[in-house]
Amino acid sequence: MRLRHIPGAEETIASSPYVIQEPALHKGSWNQVFGNTNPIEIEVGMGKGRFIMELAQKNPHINYIGIERYSSVLLRGLQKRAGLELDNIYFLCIDAKAMADYFAPGEVNRIYLNFSDPWPKDRHARRRLTSPDFMAVYDQILARDGVIEFKTDNRGLFDYSLEAIPQAGWQIKAHTFDLHHSPMNEGNVMTEYEEKFSSMGNPICKMVISRGCHR
Ligand code: SAM
Repeated sequence: MRLRHIPGAEETIASSPYVIQEPALHKGSWNQVFGNTNPIEIEVGMGKGRFIMELAQKNPHINYIGIERYSSVLLRGLQKRAGLELDNIYFLCIDAKAMADYFAPGEVNRIYLNFSDPWPKDRHARRRLTSPDFMAVYDQILARDGVIEFKTDNRGLFDYSLEAIPQAGWQIKAHTFDLHHSPMNEGNVMTEYEEKFSSMGNPICKMVISRGCHR
């Protein structure tokens, strides 16, 4: 998702109380930002943030961080956030590739990848959020028993991930090619893209990933 440039978006984000401006300062001490020791869960590529804000409303004892690299997209999330009474969610306007600069080893309990950009060309494979390069980043920040949840309607990206993730030494604990007609759908929170693509009749794929036994 890349919206046209919105004048003032950077300034709004730079002064928003909901966006952590210098995340590197909080590496290893995110519990102080939230004022508690609750588990931390991150959505990488949150878009307008419907999913992660709904999770934050449902689970007050979990701390959420939404990551979105485009200010024009994050701006939409901030508009939605302003109408909510929540103290367990913040946003970062960063490229997820740099996450290990902002989170200490084991500091993150769960990572959500929802409808990540598919980057179908082979020469762009390293940009996929389930590529070995990105899995290596998650490896640096995820707790030992942490998990990654990945949803997409893009069968090419899903099939690639089914192969690439075990090759990178991770374990796919569960997967489905049709989430909404699967037992894995219990408690499912829809994302903006999920709503859009499932209403067009596209089946939604999901996998749950954990560390392999040698990780
Ligand atoms: N997760 C949302 C959903 O399911 O509705 C949005 C999906 S949208 C297709 C993917 C989003 O991920 C885009 O807003 C894009 O800017 C963001 N994104 C992609 N790569 C990223 C990266 N490396 N770091 C941060 N955000 C990224």
